[in-house]
Amino acid sequence: MKRNKEFFSIFGDPVAHSKSPIMHNSAFAGLGHPGCYGRYRLVEGERLRQAFLNLGLKGVNVTVPHKEHAYRACDELDPFARKVGAVNTIVLREGKLHGYNTDAPGFLEAIEPFGARSVLFLGAGGTAQATAEILREAGYEVTILNRSPGRLERFRERGFASYSWKEFSPGSYDLIVNMTSAGLKEESLPAPRELLDPLLEKAKGAVDVVYGRETPFLRLAGEKGLPRRDGSEMLLRQGVIAFGHFTDGRYDSREVERWMRRGLEL
Ligand code: NDP
Repeated sequence: MKRNKEFFSIFGDPVAHSKSPIMHNSAFAGLGHPGCYGRYRLVEGERLRQAFLNLGLKGVNVTVPHKEHAYRACDELDPFARKVGAVNTIVLREGKLHGYNTDAPGFLEAIEPFGARSVLFLGAGGTAQATAEILREAGYEVTILNRSPGRLERFRERGFASYSWKEFSPGSYDLIVNMTSAGLKEESLPAPRELLDPLLEKAKGAVDVVYGRETPFLRLAGEKGLPRRDGSEMLLRQGVIAFGHFTDGRYDSREVERWMRRGLEL
């Protein structure tokens, strides 16, 4: 029996750089699933639910700056998404929008090879919020360093050691992670050089969540001779988990990963 085509999209602003379409379409084609994945620049996050339904979609991934809007747009939330307050994957089932967070488990898988215990996050946005929680549950010691104090309150309430640039004196951490969007479109570092130099000199590795280009942060880590990784592996891993939700777990995740790697040329 011929199955109807299902439509998916990435929602965000900007979305032109996103590799989610190529990654998911490669898996749909490789696995013979009747799916098609596009991109949609959503400027107003408040319109997310309406846009989803008007476009006749089965599922979306949501990127900056709409993950909190995505959280509010859902009818049902999985327990982890509810806990962290951010949704990056939505699936329509029987007229209801179901929300998940796949960024955080994707990030957790991506940093495993570093064998780190202590992790310093540069940045305190939605991605940092979700990943800090899952890392702590997995036994990592997580510290937050952010440009401004405003976003640190919610981390402090949850018991994370959290500092603004002004309050911080660089200690020793196994892994330094750029969780900001610094370097996504321009050539800025996620923290001042005088803080980054001593941190990177003592660290065992550096990770950037930005993918597809060498950010100034990763370049600096390379100059210090540190093992480093950009956001491609996180993108891949969160995508494999999202694909499982989109297709209700119909396919072996190793096969999904194989096709997605091929699409991303990883
Ligand atoms: P948010 O907009 O929620 O958070 C932004 C954070 O970055 C804030 O802490 C902000 O600090 C800080 N920041 C922004 N610009 C600068 C700068 N120039 N210098 C220093 N700090 C800065 O973003 P998200 O948490 O949703 O996303 C963060 C990044 O993660 C994005 O680049 C996104 O593309 C990437 N990402 C990658 C994924 C992947 O699969 N590889 C998955 C998910 C996200 P302040 O509070 O002072 O404003």
